[in-house]
Amino acid sequence: MPIDAVIFDWGGTLTAWHDIDFHAESLALAQAVVDADHDVEVSQRLLHAAGSTIWGRSRDHQQSATVADLFTEAGLAHDPELLKAYYDFWEPHTYTDPVVRPTWEALRADGIKVGVLSNTIWPRAWHEHFFERDGVLELLDGAVYTSEIPWTKPSPRAFAAAMDAVGVTDPARCVYVGDRLFDDVWGARNAGLKAVHLPHSAIPPEQVGHTEGTPDAVVQSVAELPALVRNGL
Ligand SMILES: [Mg+2]
Repeated sequence: MPIDAVIFDWGGTLTAWHDIDFHAESLALAQAVVDADHDVEVSQRLLHAAGSTIWGRSRDHQQSATVADLFTEAGLAHDPELLKAYYDFWEPHTYTDPVVRPTWEALRADGIKVGVLSNTIWPRAWHEHFFERDGVLELLDGAVYTSEIPWTKPSPRAFAAAMDAVGVTDPARCVYVGDRLFDDVWGARNAGLKAVHLPHSAIPPEQVGHTEGTPDAVVQSVAELPALVRNGL
């Protein structure tokens, strides 16, 4: 069966996997807290716990969240203008794999739509800035950032939103590529898409969901996708 679209996960798929220091992350987030009647270490602990809560909700109930929701969950007021430390903390982990541009160009040359579906609390503008910096934004036919929709992967609704964004309708003619066996592989196949696994990420045990899926194919690099799709997976 011909393939109409290849949709990619972001972290650990289009970027290299990095282990993240979540203590340092929540300390950076705490720089944006305003009107707190306690010190930054208390804010850090509240934000760290809130992060576990919102990502637990994503894992167990496929409920999405935004950066603002994270502060609300922590019971803290914040000023979005003060998120620079948080943004700067993450920035080194956002670089697009250099093979992505030629891979997306090859897929598009074959008439295949290219999309992104990312479980993220960040605004679209941040993601688009990273893609633009790395020269790949113009190659995207559509992208869904779950901060903009109610659901996260592995909800079939998240995959349907991504297909809608790239302008395709038949999940059986779509391939999803990701580094997580629950969110990406199980989720995509459960939604009727084909699933390709990129197995280079060290997923923390608490981030693994109820089922690990079996991929239709395993690749060592996203650069393998154009040939894989041409050969019908
Ligand atoms: Mg990922």
